[in-house]
Amino acid sequence: MSTVQPAPLEPSSVELADIVAARPRPLLVGLDVDGVLAPIVERADRAALLPGVTEALLDLVPHVTLAVVSGRSVADLEARYGFPAGVTVVGSHGLETRGLDTVALDEREQRRLDDLTALASAAADAAGAGAWVEHKPASIVLHVREADPATAEPAATRLHQRAGEVPGAHVKHGHEVVELMVRPTSKATAVADLRARHGAATVVFVGDDRTDEEVFATLAPGDVSVRVGPGETLAAHRLPDPPAVLAWLRALPSRL
Ligand SMILES: [Mg+2]
Repeated sequence: MSTVQPAPLEPSSVELADIVAARPRPLLVGLDVDGVLAPIVERADRAALLPGVTEALLDLVPHVTLAVVSGRSVADLEARYGFPAGVTVVGSHGLETRGLDTVALDEREQRRLDDLTALASAAADAAGAGAWVEHKPASIVLHVREADPATAEPAATRLHQRAGEVPGAHVKHGHEVVELMVRPTSKATAVADLRARHGAATVVFVGDDRTDEEVFATLAPGDVSVRVGPGETLAAHRLPDPPAVLAWLRALPSRL
């Protein structure tokens, strides 16, 4: 970030509910999942929603357009979290939407995915014990959260570099994960599409990772951006952790 960002406001969950309720409607509420509705855990395949999140989402559905927007595949989101009907589930950083399009790779993309898979597997070996590779419909992901940082960090950095040299590949580097994608995707595009499709007057977006910063960067002045947890951010507001997000979700329906 080249310009100095003003520090985000740190409202309480209830204060943030008041801020959102005062905005023009209809509202689109977009939520990242891991680190927002589900606490970050050592292994992404052991994550779970905070107890009470599903009920809070159900209470909110009648009042807003509600979407979860995650880097996980829709299949993974469905199997792991099972979001209730009425919630739009967008996966793979915007590439897939529950009940709509599935990802079909053309020949060139499939070859690219094979090449990236070979690179990621080699990087997992170099990163050492605890590193693992996840296969998604249009990407391959190296996870190093459980690996020794002394070997994992150089391996992740090198993978980022080498994959960046593969024509047509797109690299996202997040919290101890490196994702190699065969086509460009962005949560920002996904959220812009949702805004247009639902005619939202205000977009509220809540996220905790670099890919969510892409959304914050494209929101309009009247929108509400919320970063969860520490770290430099373009968001205008910050909540400390997933329990604060849950408290905010619970405070919203009675105000709308
Ligand atoms: Mg996240």
